[in-house]
Order: sequence, then structure tokens, then C-alpha cells
Amino acid sequence: MTEKAEVLVLGLGPAGASAAAEAARRGCRVIALERKREAGVPVQCAELIPRMLEAHPRVTRQRIDAMVTFVEDDAPDLKQGFPGQMLDRAAFDASLVEDAQRAGADVRFSCLVRKVHADGLVELGDGRTLRASVIVGADGPRSRAGKAIGRINTELVETRQVTVALREPHAATDIFLSAGIPGGYGWLFPKGERANLGAGVSPQHKARLKGIVQGLLRKLAEEGRVGKTVLSTTGGAIPVGGMLKPWGFHERTPVLLAGDAAGLANPVTGAGIAAAVHSGRLAGQAAASGRFQDYEDELEDVYRAALDRALARRRELLSSSMEKQNLRRSWIAYPEYWQ
Ligand SMILES: Cc1cc2nc3c(=O)[nH]c(=O)nc-3n(C[C@H](O)[C@H](O)[C@H](O)COP(=O)(O)OP(=O)(O)OC[C@H]3O[C@@H](n4cnc5c(N)ncnc54)[C@H](O)[C@@H]3O)c2cc1C
Repeated sequence: MTEKAEVLVLGLGPAGASAAAEAARRGCRVIALERKREAGVPVQCAELIPRMLEAHPRVTRQRIDAMVTFVEDDAPDLKQGFPGQMLDRAAFDASLVEDAQRAGADVRFSCLVRKVHADGLVELGDGRTLRASVIVGADGPRSRAGKAIGRINTELVETRQVTVALREPHAATDIFLSAGIPGGYGWLFPKGERANLGAGVSPQHKARLKGIVQGLLRKLAEEGRVGKTVLSTTGGAIPVGGMLKPWGFHERTPVLLAGDAAGLANPVTGAGIAAAVHSGRLAGQAAASGRFQDYEDELEDVYRAALDRALARRRELLSSSMEKQNLRRSWIAYPEYWQ
């Protein structure tokens, strides 16, 4: 028997949980499906969000005030005015799912969506089927909902991250730009007594990631900034090809895309949590109201210029010789980026 919902949300990351909450608040019968067994686990994130994004103190770990950028071996550039906060991402995602449940959404874990059929039927890994008036695809960078309507992230960055002990308190995000980290950058983000240390590269360089991260870890451990022992390892893909049209019809079923599925992560920084929460809320509202074009217009207004600029800078860098001046022009901490 095919189960029915008014709004079916695929994925319960920040975008999906936010969409489910908003649609349920507007009185829709919402079912949200997530392949993981619990919210946000395993964490695949460096856990930095802008300070202006509301997050309960229960799910935050420390504040960030500044950014320090290392271009090759040059002396670091300290830039104040990058206010952020470090999350406990698993707790953050869980808190958004709790909000959705409180709003009345039926959230279900261990539910892999295998296929979105042409007639709008959604098939799960165990063969069960569901149907809805509207589908919200919040299923990340390799979205099946996006694939169903032909809107796919074609450019990705692959990442690897380790969590290590942090030897001294630090309230800045450290960014490592180098021709040796092609298509991405390295990072050290402090989280109280620990830090997330990672790097992202274009997919063709994925095999080099382990060595890049080990190299950064060795250097920072020798400087006495972090411990040598790796406490945990993670990674994942980030969409860096820019914004996709965030809705379409799969035959007659409207499908809205939100968060990474809509290509809203920044192609230069890889940051996508704030955009996922915001677009998820808007997608939930649009799913309830049927105002799909308004959804697209709002995302265009808020994100288009910034994401297009980032995409252009990324592409310029990839087609350049990756000299220091090009690395600077491709990074948000330098005025050249904004010119
Ligand atoms: C290593 C790494 C570090 C990052 N660091 C940062 C950072 O510091 N700050 C920042 O802002 N952004 C960061 N990002 C990006 C950020 O994590 C994403 O932009 C954000 O998670 C997007 O939220 P989302 O809800 O759109 O997608 P996701 O968080 O990816 O959620 C999608 C959900 O859909 C589920 N799903 C996928 N396919 C299916 C299926 N077929 N069936 C059922 N469920 C499915 C997934 O399991 C997942 O839970 C990082 C990404 C990576 C990989």
C-alpha cells in the first residue's frame, strides 16, 4: 500500500529538518525521510556557522572572532570581523529535527530513498512506497530528488577532516591556501579543547587528501598547536558548482530543492549550513503555500550574487597558475576577492 502525505521531505539535515518544521507549522501532513539512523551522525562537517545564525547555547561550543589566512609559507594575515560560532553539529541537527517533530512532522530514520519515480512515487530501500502533493529534496549534494528533475550538482569538492586535541585556546579560523591543495583549502577550526583540521580538493586530486591532511597535522603538531593523535576522521562532498534552479515538476509532482541539493553551499568557502537552514524554511513555506516561483525569486535575491562571485573566483583560480596573488584573489579575506 502506498502511504500518502501532503509534503514529503527527503533528507533530515539542516535543510530538510527546517523544511519539515515550516510545512508542519502551516498545517500540512509532513513525512520526512532520512537514511541515517540518527540525526547528524556521523558528523561530516567542520562545524563553523556565522554568529548571526541562531543556535541554542546547548549546541554551540565556542565563539569565533577572526580569520587567519596562511598563503603558502608567507606570514599569516589576521583579519578581524569574521564573527562565527563553532557547533556541535550532531546536536545542532538533532535540535532541528526536534523542532520539526514538535511542529507535528512525522520524521523517520533508517529510511533510504531509493528512487523518485516519474509519476512522483517515492520508493524506499525496503520496497515501501510513498506519494505526496509536493516533494522537498533536501538530500544533500547528490540529491535523488534533484536528479529526478534534472537539476544536479556537477562540480564537487572532496574533503577529509580529522579531529585532534587543541593545545592552546584559539578564537580564529585558520585557513591554508596553497597550490598543493588544488581546488580547495586547508582549515583548522577550534572547538574548545579540540579542533577540526581538514582539507578539500577537486575530485581528481582526492587520492592526495590523506597526505595533505597528514602534512598539515604534522606541521601544526610540531608547532605545538595541536596533538598528534587523531581522535576521529570524517569527510564528504561539497557542491561547488553554484546555484541550481530550486524547483521543477517531475511529471505533475512539484519538487523543491533546498540546501546542498539546490547548490547553495559557497563554491569558495564550502559553507552551506546557514543557507541550508534558511532555504529549508523557505522551501517548507513554499511547499505549504504552493508559491514555488516566490521561493526561487527569494533565493535568487539572497544568494545569486554571492554564489556567482564565488563560482567565478573558484574557476579563475582553477584555470590559473595558482601563484600567491591568485590564491589571495580567490579568498574572501582579501579585498581583491571583492573587487
Ligand atoms: C567535511 C565538510 C566540512 C564542512 N564544513 C562546513 C562548515 O564548517 N560550515 C558550513 O556552513 N558548512 C560546512 N560544510 C557544508 C555543510 O555541511 C552542508 O552545506 C550542509 O550540511 C547542507 O545541509 P543540507 O541539509 O542541505 O544537506 P546535508 O546536511 O547533507 O543533509 C542531507 C541529508 O539527506 C540524507 N540523504 C541523502 N540521500 C538520501 C537518501 N537517498 N535517502 C534518505 N536520506 C538521504 C543524508 O543522510 C543527510 O542527512 C561542510 C561539508 C563537509 C563535507
